[in-house]
Amino acid sequence: MSFRDRSRETAAALASHLILAAAFAASAAAQERLALVGGMLLDGYDVPPLHHAAVLIEGERIVAVGRAAELEIPPDARVVDTSGRVMIPGMMDLHAHLAVLGHGEYGRWFSWIDEEGVDIEEVMEISAKQLLLAGVTTAVDLGAPLEASLAVRDRIARGEVPGARLLMAGPWITRRVSFWPENYQIGVSSPEEASAAVERLAEAGVDVIKAWVGLTREDYRAVADTAHRHGLQVHAHVYGPDEVKNALEAGIDVLTHAGSAGTPPYEPDLLRDIVVAGRPVVITGAHRVWVFPATVEFPERLQDPRLRDDLPAAMYDELQRSFENFHTLPYFQTTARQMFFGDASLGQWIEAGAVMGMGTDSGTPMNFHTEALWRELKAHVDLGMTPMEAIVAATRVNARILGLADDLGSIEPGKIADIVVLRGDPRFSITELNEPVVVVKDGRVYRRD
Ligand SMILES: [Zn+2]
Repeated sequence: MSFRDRSRETAAALASHLILAAAFAASAAAQERLALVGGMLLDGYDVPPLHHAAVLIEGERIVAVGRAAELEIPPDARVVDTSGRVMIPGMMDLHAHLAVLGHGEYGRWFSWIDEEGVDIEEVMEISAKQLLLAGVTTAVDLGAPLEASLAVRDRIARGEVPGARLLMAGPWITRRVSFWPENYQIGVSSPEEASAAVERLAEAGVDVIKAWVGLTREDYRAVADTAHRHGLQVHAHVYGPDEVKNALEAGIDVLTHAGSAGTPPYEPDLLRDIVVAGRPVVITGAHRVWVFPATVEFPERLQDPRLRDDLPAAMYDELQRSFENFHTLPYFQTTARQMFFGDASLGQWIEAGAVMGMGTDSGTPMNFHTEALWRELKAHVDLGMTPMEAIVAATRVNARILGLADDLGSIEPGKIADIVVLRGDPRFSITELNEPVVVVKDGRVYRRD
């Protein structure tokens, strides 16, 4: 079965969630009309913009796109004036961790949650809201407790709480059980156990499978084959060239982190095989190499008011305590090595023309959901992508990688209405992606103020 066929199956599986969401939205909104009028439109393709544009939405879908002067806006439509602004498709993050909020140290974070009796679903809902208001209308969570993951995903899909549309992996599958809490990981010691773990997750209703470290080539194959039988994709956390090669050859769908851990660039043969196979790569390049120096230069970013807005006071205080000596945090001890190889190892994919999605590892230390994605796009631009290529990767390419391109990733009639309104032109400065003024998801309007 080809990647494309599998993508369709995934799309079909996901469509059932989307249809469910649509049914709720329809009963609540009775096909309300919404029009975004006046701004410049970047529709998700790498083409010149449409100036003074308008987008007409009915219920959760876009029904018309054109020049504001020419598009007829029905009198009953609610109009959001986007004059002087820029409209882009809702962005997607292919690698997020909603159970963490950027706290400096995982061990301390999870023991603090336990001591305070914090419900992990509350944390994940905060993360989902932060992502949404940052313009991330769809996110893939690659590692969290199973029941909480599905419950938060479904509450958001039903419109009960605001948040990015979520695709959930639940716990990851690994041969190397780490210090993370037990319910974040499934330890296996054979391909049969790996396959059984995928079966359990698929039956529970996850959207994707996450493979973590230590797996053999046979494990990867068992995971990929079982997941594909259920119409699910596998995202594998891979660093070393042997892991990358094994994952590629076993049919893993998305290679995540490849090239980002301070490893030298891969051999030309391996790089070429990945590019020729069209296998998507998500480098998660910014979370140490860009985020750490940015914090050294501007430590005030750790007190971003957006963090204070969304977090209960005690949680905000605990985050602040964890940043007191951020230079010494264990998470950043490999940063120097990563920076040494950074440009070559991350840039190799851009130069070789790989299919590159955008994912951030958001939620990892100091890598906040409020801004992880624009920092990742900035890293890609610094490495050689044009700003438009980076935006297209975070929207249309990401949607295609997930098999959701029929519904998401661009601003076109028939697509789900996920639209982000920016103050200025991101083609001139990609930092315009920080702090969107309006976010529309499923045809509903959200904004931070
Ligand atoms: Zn991760």
